[in-house]
Amino acid sequence: MARDARATGRDVTAPRPALLPVGVGAAYARPGEAQSCYLVRAGGRAVALDLGSGALNRLQRHIPPEDLDALVITHLHPDHCVDVLSLRVYLTYGPPSGRTLRVLGPPELLSRLDALDPVGGPDRWDAVRFEPLTGGEGERDLGGGMTLRYREVPHLPPTFALRIDAGGGAVCFGADCVDNEALPALAEGADVLVCECSFGGDPVPEGAMHLNGARAGGIAARAGVRRLLLTHCFPEHDRDAALAAAAEAFGGPVGWATQDEVVAA
Ligand SMILES: [Zn+2]
Repeated sequence: MARDARATGRDVTAPRPALLPVGVGAAYARPGEAQSCYLVRAGGRAVALDLGSGALNRLQRHIPPEDLDALVITHLHPDHCVDVLSLRVYLTYGPPSGRTLRVLGPPELLSRLDALDPVGGPDRWDAVRFEPLTGGEGERDLGGGMTLRYREVPHLPPTFALRIDAGGGAVCFGADCVDNEALPALAEGADVLVCECSFGGDPVPEGAMHLNGARAGGIAARAGVRRLLLTHCFPEHDRDAALAAAAEAFGGPVGWATQDEVVAA
């Protein structure tokens, strides 16, 4: 049995996906939280979803970054992608791996990051093989029996919710979004839905493109998922109230996505 030597000791070649929250922080996070990042493993492959601030450091508790098979970025808010700049430096000047990392995300990902870090020549992204996600929805083969499905949700355009199916199991990450019907359609019947809960147990302010516990629970109920994990909550909001509201709206098991705690599909 192939094992993850850095952390959990669980079988990383199992066909069904295992999801490990690496960073669960919101646009500003609590002490000890990294920003958005989730590691999904199945069939011996490893894929990271998002790479916000602090996530590259915490990711290394679980996998050498050069061993990732792909990185998928949901959208261009910095709490979901800014550590791709550090990852570029790591892959270019860090331990040699002889590999290029497959990176999927919004079409402007690299140009927006270049605007933040304009130093470097035309070969600055040579360690990366970038694949833009286009259209409102689509599907990509990630290897190891993993299929990625993405679907645009209402937030910073474009923002893609992500679903990975493997071996008959499915995990779904809702990215950031306001209440919508695209996410429950994508997440339909998934084993695990990781859903943002920016405003905890409090009302979502008018015009804010985010969710609270009740709305996350409603999405989970409409999707018919087996389990809901809340994440991406601003530090000031009441998490117990969020959990209670989500549980009431969902009617199924609800918890918080917890850094370094693996969830199996
Ligand atoms: Zn966002």
